[in-house]
Amino acid sequence: MTTTDIKLSKDLEKGIHFSCLMCGTCCRGLDEGEVYLYDEDIKLLANHLNFKGFEGLKEFAKKYLKVINDSFLWKEPGAERKRTYRFKTLAFRFTGDDDHCHFLKDNMCSIHEARPFQCRCFPFWQMMISNRSNFTNYSKKCPGLRELKGNFYSKENIVEWARAERKLELNYFLKMKANGFDILKLYPFLPKQLLENGD
Ligand code: SF4
Ligand code: SF4
Repeated sequence: MTTTDIKLSKDLEKGIHFSCLMCGTCCRGLDEGEVYLYDEDIKLLANHLNFKGFEGLKEFAKKYLKVINDSFLWKEPGAERKRTYRFKTLAFRFTGDDDHCHFLKDNMCSIHEARPFQCRCFPFWQMMISNRSNFTNYSKKCPGLRELKGNFYSKENIVEWARAERKLELNYFLKMKANGFDILKLYPFLPKQLLENGD
């Protein structure tokens, strides 16, 4: 591990080659994963898909989103130790027998330029780059991670992605905290039904 603010597995110290081979596996949940969405993702995608205004966002949420549980480890200024905060967040609702993302078409992402940060950041999520066994486990599913060919990402590039992810998560947590962890204050357009069906 390095001593940078982001922990990096030793295997990634020299950077890696990676290119998506477009098998579509990571765009299928199959009860294993979620695609988390933050407010910036929602704005970008709703705009890209032409869902305008409050009613448009409501329609967008009804069609594509679900409410899930999330958590964040945080140390209050002056507190002795960190504590885990639990709250709600948004993710894509998957569809079909193979539990695929609504935007997966012929194994390709049909909203590539407006895809959520989580999809853009892969495979440099913090939980992947700081933990060798997470990386190895994910490579069993992802042929791009088994091949390790194509575009080169230096240690700095990798850390930059993970740092951006952490910043996004931290900002969301702080906004939620400032709003008493009431997701409706952040996303007033969410239909009630989504909250009732949440995890
Ligand atoms: S599992 Fe890997 S190769 Fe397949 S679509 Fe996802 S990133 Fe690309
Ligand atoms: S938005 Fe695109 S890249 Fe992300 S899960 Fe859906 S189809 Fe895959």
